[in-house]
Amino acid sequence: NTSAPRLPSYLKTSIPKGASFAKIKSDLRGLKLHTVCEEARCPNIGDCWGGKEGATPEEGRRAATATIMLMGDTCTRGCRFCSVKTSRTPPPLDPHEPEHTAEAISRWGLGYIVLTSVDRDDLADGGAHHFAETIIKIKQKAPQILVEALTGDFGGSLPHVSVVAKSGLDVYAHNIETSEALTPFVRDRRATFRQSLSVLEHAKKEGVRITKTSIMLGVGETEDQIVDALRELRKVDVDVVTFGQYMRPTKRHMKVDRYVEPAEFDRWKQIAEDMGFLYVASGPLVRSSYKAGEFYIENILR
Ligand code: SF4
Ligand code: SF4
Repeated sequence: NTSAPRLPSYLKTSIPKGASFAKIKSDLRGLKLHTVCEEARCPNIGDCWGGKEGATPEEGRRAATATIMLMGDTCTRGCRFCSVKTSRTPPPLDPHEPEHTAEAISRWGLGYIVLTSVDRDDLADGGAHHFAETIIKIKQKAPQILVEALTGDFGGSLPHVSVVAKSGLDVYAHNIETSEALTPFVRDRRATFRQSLSVLEHAKKEGVRITKTSIMLGVGETEDQIVDALRELRKVDVDVVTFGQYMRPTKRHMKVDRYVEPAEFDRWKQIAEDMGFLYVASGPLVRSSYKAGEFYIENILR
């Protein structure tokens, strides 16, 4: 489409390097884990898996972050920005997944793991118990690994949010994605802005130390809309927000409205910090889990 804005050079990424990146990649082959990092060809894989410059592979691994997908590769929802496949009847859950995932993660030895999943509106509990069981098992096997759960909204069912929030995790994340006004045009119709706020609010009430959300820029939002969204997030005590550029996965997905300049991302970081967020990651290539481990390990949870 000729009317679409052109891809700026700062969004073109280089091939990852570094000793711990290579080591993590080879570890993964043996563990049979499915990472979002690899499957979504995330542009940050070098940064997240690369650990710190000059670190030994062991130190690098401990500083690394990876995102694991639970409950299959087929979602019951269809958000307009998302490339995950959709079906009303995805295959049943693998009852061994919590144990296998926990075993693999504990052997892997990363410092920080993000667990996420497709939405499973077909399951009575939306997969909350499956999610929680995975976290409980990881913490049993490797209590030193910090665990972030990036969940869906469980159809607004707060008891299901509680099941995950009380599983022993360190960070509860749920993505609001965009402003309230744009939500119906961006997310699946079953997702609402208010429902997402209530998920984050409830997780915090259940005693989770850090709650976190993400906003995509470049989907048609106005500045006021984003400031309003940030205000609402602060009202329910959300601690961490990340901003990244929306990238259209295929021509069947919604168009990019604009490419946001790096300087504007810096400005959003400043605005959000001034509003009281504990931590803000903001940049064209930032994704919700971007280098999460490095920040949380050093600044909050240890
Ligand atoms: Fe993608 Fe999540 Fe929306 Fe499912 S609910 S389509 S996985 S963004
Ligand atoms: Fe993986 Fe998230 Fe980092 Fe991308 S931003 S490499 S998905 S941990």
